[in-house]
Amino acid sequence: MRLSRMFYRTMKEIPKEASIPSHQLMFRAGMIQQVSSGIYNYLPLALKSLRKIETIIREVLKKNDCEEVLLPVVQPADLWKESGRWEFYGDELLRFTDRRNNEFCLGPTHEEVITDMVRRNLKSYKQLPWNLFQIQTKFRDEIRPRFGLMRGREFIMKDGYSFDRDSDTSRETYYRMYRAYEEIFNRTGLQYKAVEALTGNIGGSLSHEFQVLADSGEDLILSCPGCSYAANIEKGRTVFASGRPVEQVNERSTDIHTPDAGSIEEVSEFLGRDPIDFIKTLLYKIDGEPALVLVRGDREVNEEKILSVLQANKIELADEETVRILCGTETGYVGPVGLYGKVTILADRSIEGRSGMICGANRKDYHRINVNWERDYRVDRIDDFSFARSGDPCPLCGMPMEEYRGIEVGQVFHLGTKYSDSMGCTYLDSEGKEQPAHMGCYGIGVGRTLAAAIEQNHDESGIVWPAAIAPYEVIVMPLQMNSEEVLEAGEAIYRDLMEAGVDVLIDDRAERAGFKFNDADLIGYPLQIGIGKKSLENGVVELKIRKSGEKLELSPSEVPAFVSEFLGREKVK
Ligand code: ATP
Ligand code: MG
Repeated sequence: MRLSRMFYRTMKEIPKEASIPSHQLMFRAGMIQQVSSGIYNYLPLALKSLRKIETIIREVLKKNDCEEVLLPVVQPADLWKESGRWEFYGDELLRFTDRRNNEFCLGPTHEEVITDMVRRNLKSYKQLPWNLFQIQTKFRDEIRPRFGLMRGREFIMKDGYSFDRDSDTSRETYYRMYRAYEEIFNRTGLQYKAVEALTGNIGGSLSHEFQVLADSGEDLILSCPGCSYAANIEKGRTVFASGRPVEQVNERSTDIHTPDAGSIEEVSEFLGRDPIDFIKTLLYKIDGEPALVLVRGDREVNEEKILSVLQANKIELADEETVRILCGTETGYVGPVGLYGKVTILADRSIEGRSGMICGANRKDYHRINVNWERDYRVDRIDDFSFARSGDPCPLCGMPMEEYRGIEVGQVFHLGTKYSDSMGCTYLDSEGKEQPAHMGCYGIGVGRTLAAAIEQNHDESGIVWPAAIAPYEVIVMPLQMNSEEVLEAGEAIYRDLMEAGVDVLIDDRAERAGFKFNDADLIGYPLQIGIGKKSLENGVVELKIRKSGEKLELSPSEVPAFVSEFLGREKVK
């Protein structure tokens, strides 16, 4: 490609909403343009990189016996009603009606449509396994679209879905996809971690996210320095040393007056006790049913974990009226004592076995002290209902875990039969018995991967592309456009590289050398070749490796071999 003919413009200024480097640089490099909040034009440079990511994805998936399909963006509500998600998906699902008043939505993900497609083709166990994917535009009406392609409303996703005969084969497929994702992200050249994750809106029981490590990441990851365990902090399993034995606090539990102190901070200050000695008690409504959730005073309730443990869909804090009816007081003074049997009580492991605790006394302005596990209150269920945090012991080896920031670029889910059960996606087994297909689903944010690549690879001059996904691999820059020899040498190298299959660009604009260098650094082509009059007289051209800043001189005839060797080294196969 000739830069003089390219639809492209670099910019010095940064739009004020662009707060992170990838967004700023994509804008300055003329890669994207906002059309509406969270909705972008992808300009040629961005699309070239996006296509390279897509090619890597396609190559790896096809090697793993996955087939490509293309499903509609516009999806009928009926399918979503069948799966039950019409009700639970929330406001991210953009719903609308057509001229005949039929309800539709824009696909944020495609479990419903693909399950419908497969159930209409699936008859016998002999047809399975199937593994289908597409690369397509999704729409999610995100509450806070931001960071450019990182969190758009309209974005490109690779989504894949597997259908197996049973749980074991479906798990094998899950781990095969997990390994395929490792290969995909290795080939993009990004630093990432695969972490345990919650399944959220999609459902299922087993899931991993692929997180690109970057300071601006929206996700917090806990990772063990001693072993392979890593998890999204939402999901991170918490391990607690068991509480003090009951014998240590023999005093009877009693109410004490704590006027105007409702929050843990206020009461702990008032009593001079550490938040760790408190039972934080919150009344929730989970799928409409009230439930009391208990966590230690220094911990936070993790609502997603509750949904996941109870296999529930909706969780919200109960309103004051419900708190008054069930607990006889107002929020801030609620505690578990005396409520067993009246409302479901869910206890986080952080309070298991602890004695001498403090909690609300279920009367205004009073708290209860010396509250012992089992002696003073009982619970219906103990599980992991709180957020893990940095320094918590690793659930596998006990080492204190460390915290990182990450950008979720992909996620794999082992779904089980959630959709095949609700939508009747079944087959006849070898004995003629009807069985549900076992599913998995696998997403990669293509645009987000591009943004994450920049987030992880940039410096003060601009982007530093990993070679595998750079919009062009090499830029050839004739530095004096008025010199015949320079132009000729530039054209010759450009031609040679094209013939060698290199993705090469020539900067044939009538611009100064400094201007060309700045643009080349900003866009971040992995290799820059400068053709200057003086060096040509010495029989050489100048090469600069963008990543290391290393410069070298080669004769024009040596360039193609060097470039092939360089790219071969840079690109992980
Ligand atoms: P997040 O938690 O960041 O909102 P998600 O977990 O809801 O994402 P998935 O349903 O797992 O997203 O979608 C698969 C992939 O699609 C994600 O791993 C991410 O890379 C990408 N993705 C999701 N939402 C967006 C978005 N709003 N903009 C760009 N990419 C997105
Ligand atoms: Mg996800």
